[in-house]
Amino acid sequence: MDIVQIGADVLRNKSIEVPERLFGSQELFDVLEKMRKSLESQKDGVAIAAPQVGIPYRIFLVSPKSYRGNTKDVRLVFINPRIVKQSKKTELMDEGCLSVRWKYGQVTRSINTTVEAYDEYGKKFTRVGGGLLSQIFQHEIDHLDGVLFVDKAKNVGEYTPRE
Ligand SMILES: [Zn+2]
Repeated sequence: MDIVQIGADVLRNKSIEVPERLFGSQELFDVLEKMRKSLESQKDGVAIAAPQVGIPYRIFLVSPKSYRGNTKDVRLVFINPRIVKQSKKTELMDEGCLSVRWKYGQVTRSINTTVEAYDEYGKKFTRVGGGLLSQIFQHEIDHLDGVLFVDKAKNVGEYTPRE
């Protein structure tokens, strides 16, 4: 599965909200399925945003593996997400992106982030994320606003992918 790479307009434009009429629709399920397959095709993928598969909607998907042992309230689909709370406390976190191969760097991220979003049926929920999940929330919502981690990262380097 191909992931859209840096340089493409879809990664730099602000994505649009998923309209209400699409909740619960096959069209939306097809988008989510495309995202899920693309994410699963990447060994190191922890999450993916719709623009990374060429779809300019405000959606991101989190891989179940990002929840590690934290199995309480596992949410994978985040539609029209909004950050409602963020810790002032930040940390410099190692980061990479499926759309910026094969770079890595360090980005200052809040250690806790609360997101309000909708599931695929239009049900609103709130999820608090700490650590990796907090980082994912911030990284993915940046994608929906046309921002890539390399715009903010320090100590950017490149690595050779392991086969
Ligand atoms: Zn990314």
